[in-house]
Amino acid sequence: MSVQNNLNTIQSSLPPHVTLVAVSKTWPVSDLMEAYNAGQRIFGENKIQEMADKHDEMPKDIQWHMIGHVQTNKVKYMAPFVSLIHGVDSLKLLVEINRQAKRYRKVIDCLLQLHIAEEDTKFGMDESELTVLLESEEFKQMQNVRVKGLMGMATFTDNKDQIRKEFNKLKTVFDTIAKIPATDNYQPTTLSMGMSGDYQIAIECGSTMVRIGSSIFGNR
Ligand SMILES: *Cc1c(COP(=O)(O)O)cnc(C)c1O
Repeated sequence: MSVQNNLNTIQSSLPPHVTLVAVSKTWPVSDLMEAYNAGQRIFGENKIQEMADKHDEMPKDIQWHMIGHVQTNKVKYMAPFVSLIHGVDSLKLLVEINRQAKRYRKVIDCLLQLHIAEEDTKFGMDESELTVLLESEEFKQMQNVRVKGLMGMATFTDNKDQIRKEFNKLKTVFDTIAKIPATDNYQPTTLSMGMSGDYQIAIECGSTMVRIGSSIFGNR
């Protein structure tokens, strides 16, 4: 199967309210261009340097999503061009994103990452940390970030019940924080959950954005 065929198959199986992020980490620009030529415009990368290199080389109408763990001292390398940062897991990181965005006189969209998996290897905040962040004066004063919703990763397991339970948990938290009134920097409409192995379950549980790599590009 070609990248184009894989992409078309997945894209046509997604409900219209679900956005597809093509996760292109580790793949060369030539593979990304296949997806681009098939119409894909949103790409997800997990390393800032790799994303910056690909951004330099590729057409400028691509929206680049940072889906990996972000180190505070590297935010500056993506601030000029990144379109959505999925893995914001601390107020400290959000402060730095706001600071860098301000330097470029822009607003950077972010998702807050919630820890939903049983494994403790995955990053993310718990529910109380999330609440503290959203209610902090520091966040309320930020003018150069916009929190667009939540992101989470389920446990890597074949146990579909467990995956469903974790996605349902994330959806419940999302519904709770979505009741907080929107402001200039808070517009919670996006729930990023679901990868190649679990995106159908994620969509059943209320995902609005899926991050799919290997089902499009092959096994890394
Ligand atoms: C790699 C990655 C994906 C895509 O994983 P696949 O199993 O290849 O679809 C999605 N989300 C994050 C955060 C990733 O790091």
